[in-house]
Amino acid sequence: MIGMYDVEKHFGSLHVLKNIKLEVPAGQVLVVLGPSGSGKSTLCRTINRLEPVDSGKITIDGVVLPDEGKALAQLRADVGMVFQSFNLFAHKSILHNVMLGPVKVRKMKKGDAEKLAVSLLERVGIASQKDKLPAQLSGGQQQRVAIARALAMQPKVMLFDEPTSALDPEMVNEVLDVMTSLAKEGMTMVCVTHEMGFARKAADRVIFMAEGEIVEDSTPESFFTNPQSSRAKDFLSKIL
Ligand code: ATP
Ligand code: MG
Repeated sequence: MIGMYDVEKHFGSLHVLKNIKLEVPAGQVLVVLGPSGSGKSTLCRTINRLEPVDSGKITIDGVVLPDEGKALAQLRADVGMVFQSFNLFAHKSILHNVMLGPVKVRKMKKGDAEKLAVSLLERVGIASQKDKLPAQLSGGQQQRVAIARALAMQPKVMLFDEPTSALDPEMVNEVLDVMTSLAKEGMTMVCVTHEMGFARKAADRVIFMAEGEIVEDSTPESFFTNPQSSRAKDFLSKIL
């Protein structure tokens, strides 16, 4: 589903992605771990070309990511992304936030987009809030809207970059529960998260990054119980 082949990326003299080789098959839930600055967000952002790469190849469903234009927009529509900040449109209702992508990008009829949006808002547990503005919702609710909005594009892949790290602790689980149910339904997911409970419970696979490299690539079970590298051992000793 996602392929990254010999991907290299620099920010000026800083080498942020080093020889990244990664294939994520359909239905896999991949959790990306690593210390701050190790390149996790950059890796995520290259998958929908929010960041261009210096060299190497990235594919979605076998199609090489185009550089720009309509082809890129089309491919991007297949890749949902949820960030730490929810980035909802402040002056549009929850319902309209979720309908916008399907109407504008997928050219869906408004009535159909509304039905889809309501069903997705039901799925994330906030259909009753649909006529409110984002600011009238809690952080956890807003993040669930952001997930519904991404799902409304009917993506092939969902990318999550620390979706719960800006939330108050009591709201973290309501977002993780939505992510866990998506994982169970077979969505292909790449999740950067510090939520180790989620990683253990929902991930099929964990990669650990350090200084722009994928240092470990294993199951959550073996990563947490038997990390191979000193950098992963050091990381785990600080967070567990
Ligand atoms: P964190 O856990 O803190 O979110 P991360 O693993 O997501 O870290 P990245 O955001 O991918 O790390 O950053 C990797 C490195 O690239 C860091 O040293 C960061 O300062 C640098 N970097 C990221 N974005 C840019 C940018 N737009 N311009 C210059 N340097 C950048
Ligand atoms: Mg990051």
